[in-house]
Amino acid sequence: MSSSAIARVCETVNCTKEAKLQCPTCIKLGIEGSFFCEQDCFKGSWKQHKQVHKKERMKNILQEQNEAAQTWPGYFFSGPLRPHLKSPTRTVPEGIEKPDYADHPEGYPASEMDIRGSTQIKILSKDELEGLRTACKYGREVLDVAASMIKPGITTDEIDEAVHQACIERKCYPSPLNYRGFPKSCCTSVNEVICHGIPDKRKLVEGDIVNVDITVYYNGYHGDLNETFFVGKVDDKSKELVQATYECLKEAINMVKPGVRYREVGNAIQKHVQAHGFSVVRTYCGHGIHRLFHTTPSIPHYSKNKAIGVMKAGHAFTIEPMINMGKWQDNLWPDDWTAVTIDGKRSAQFEHTIVVTETGCEILTARRDKDGRPHFLDQLQKLEGKGGQQA
Ligand SMILES: [Zn+2]
Ligand SMILES: [Zn+2]
Repeated sequence: MSSSAIARVCETVNCTKEAKLQCPTCIKLGIEGSFFCEQDCFKGSWKQHKQVHKKERMKNILQEQNEAAQTWPGYFFSGPLRPHLKSPTRTVPEGIEKPDYADHPEGYPASEMDIRGSTQIKILSKDELEGLRTACKYGREVLDVAASMIKPGITTDEIDEAVHQACIERKCYPSPLNYRGFPKSCCTSVNEVICHGIPDKRKLVEGDIVNVDITVYYNGYHGDLNETFFVGKVDDKSKELVQATYECLKEAINMVKPGVRYREVGNAIQKHVQAHGFSVVRTYCGHGIHRLFHTTPSIPHYSKNKAIGVMKAGHAFTIEPMINMGKWQDNLWPDDWTAVTIDGKRSAQFEHTIVVTETGCEILTARRDKDGRPHFLDQLQKLEGKGGQQA
């Protein structure tokens, strides 16, 4: 198609110059038009022009509130986030090995429930550890796919779609899919969502923080990890929250070795966040993982907890602290999955699957450099930027 020969004119009253630049905020908000000649005119019109943005934002908020009111009449939201439309359930092709709950009508994890109540912690054999290691490696690759997509304008449903495909390409089953009825292939937890957010058609907005939690099932083993990402530029307080949460996981992992009590992990984490005035979520814990998605031990992230057990070489589990900017208490959306902070303030999380070794531990879901060597992400700054992090 050819372009029109008639030049556009600047929006500023009494300016007749040709308009060459478009307001970047309008582009971001999807408002059409808003052309100006030069920076000076744009700046001069700013006071009036920004009303256009305000109006559009208000319209969006009202629309979301209406949608939510129709979803759950009478439910009181603690923060500004609202649920959006969900895409239909995705399917996994024949030939990919599935966990027991995958085809159960309610996603009942029978093998997990069979040993419920036991406090025994499995010690993995060399072969079993190799199986877990492979699942964790694929889990890491899938999270890296999700990470590379994160930017303003993308929906969490699009991330879920890519995650689902990346799992299938690796002959993995996306473990969250139908687990106890969970409807999607990963969890995406935005801003005040603590964990278990359901991917939907909401577009990520500049300034959001979003956690993507991936678990894959391969050859009989689950590998589980998550990271919190910045969507474009975020405020300093959110950066501090994400950084502190990241450090919590790092410190917790550093103390893992044979002989350490599981209940000690939470002491280190809580001590670290208290200095920032942040709080530790108590409802959701780290968990044993191998052939079962969630099993013994249970590892609370808060201090003075009563976790049972002592670490031994061959124990495999996750540590996944959820840290809140405000109060520690959580609330559940009526979808029975989405856990949000009770005060609507933001929450961040990081997770690794690790195995205890004779001298310490191995991070099975570690980020790997180009040569495949594992490394812990040392600079959180890498999580920043438009396209998420690329390490
Ligand atoms: Zn987990
Ligand atoms: Zn996870």
